[in-house]
Amino acid sequence: MNMAKVVCVLYDDPINGYPTSYARDSLPVIERYPDGQTLPTPKAIDFVAGSLLGSVSGELGLRKYLEANGHSFVVTSDKDGPDSAFERELVDADVVISQPFWPAYLTAERIAKAKKLKLALTAGIGSDHVDLQAAIDRGITVAEVTYCNSISVAEHVVMTILNLVRNYTPSHQWAVDGGWNIADCVERSYDVEGMHVGTVAAGRIGVGVLRRLKPFGMHLHYTDRHRLPKEVETELGLTWHETREDMYPACDVVTLNVPLHPETEHMINDKTLKLFKRGAYLVNTARGKLCDRDAVARALESGQLAGYGGDVWFPQPAPKDHPWRTMPHNAMTPHISGTSLSAQTRYAAGTREILECFFEGRPIRDEYLIVQSGQLAGVGAHSYSKGNATGGSEEAEKFKRG
Ligand code: NDP
Repeated sequence: MNMAKVVCVLYDDPINGYPTSYARDSLPVIERYPDGQTLPTPKAIDFVAGSLLGSVSGELGLRKYLEANGHSFVVTSDKDGPDSAFERELVDADVVISQPFWPAYLTAERIAKAKKLKLALTAGIGSDHVDLQAAIDRGITVAEVTYCNSISVAEHVVMTILNLVRNYTPSHQWAVDGGWNIADCVERSYDVEGMHVGTVAAGRIGVGVLRRLKPFGMHLHYTDRHRLPKEVETELGLTWHETREDMYPACDVVTLNVPLHPETEHMINDKTLKLFKRGAYLVNTARGKLCDRDAVARALESGQLAGYGGDVWFPQPAPKDHPWRTMPHNAMTPHISGTSLSAQTRYAAGTREILECFFEGRPIRDEYLIVQSGQLAGVGAHSYSKGNATGGSEEAEKFKRG
């Protein structure tokens, strides 16, 4: 393809400026993903592994490559509302790159304005911020960097489960505040050993979580549209449930590791929360919209849930008055689990690989494809359903207005 315009939406730099040094000098070398899939294979990279690539000044390490090939490259964090830089730049963009952490929502209205758009590239995993139905109808390719941060998220899930069950964050706060209030710390503190934990979806993250929790002596459960191979079920001692509603009552801890698409939107609501054991913990690092926001807050207030944690919200950024910021017994962070410096190195390289394929007319790996040639393709055909899950995303503009 001749000269193209690439528009890239990234989160803001740190408030104290782009880092000039880092806590560690190098990253461990990972040879392959757990299922044998190869890590990204771009022809070259122009960044130092372990540097901050996901914020605007990091530019995913793409500027040199894109400009050397005659393309124009616009990077902005200003993504929400009709007056945003993204909405202005979108009009003649050939390629849009966005990360789920700070998603540039590609609604049907925006896709209609982006008359030249051919590729919507997710630098990460989860392309629900794109109206997939509109992309299918317009013949736009949607691709993401499958597996790049699945293990990063699995680690965050394990951390959040331990944090909630052991009551870590409030106990840490007592230490920070100069207290020694042991009884206050432990009146909600338990061991995970012997508890039953269940994952909704046993894909890359779900299985990663199960594998990591096995050594803690927990009983492991899962539900998924496709059953795992018998050897994996036996190796991990898994209990399979045909439906998620069957699994909830068996679990002390439930973790959501399923993509957001019309089949899964608001699957956690007042009705389904009643199926949980009283005092269950719910951890969601998949997508905020899997849950009915207010039903979760109500369940924490009533004690139906003992804790809720994760890093995903709807919309993103979450408005300052979003109830999940202040609801009791929450272990929420902004959307960070899949954007550790380790993960950024992989998805920046994967983004570069996909761009090289796109510009050189070579096929994009099947495992990276969500939509192609007017239909769900590759991983998208396996894990998503047709339709749109971006409804309500315009509310993200509220964050800017304070
Ligand atoms: P995978 O594609 O490996 O796994 C998704 C799994 O969900 C598949 O096993 C799929 O099943 C299953 N699934 C889809 N629909 C349903 C359904 N209706 N009921 C039950 N199972 C279903 O993806 P990952 O594990 O890598 O990622 C999962 C999600 O986590 C992403 O889509 C994304 O939303 C989120 N994520 C969050 C990140 C963060 O930073 N917080 C970073 C990365 C991902 P099958 O294929 O058998 O149909």
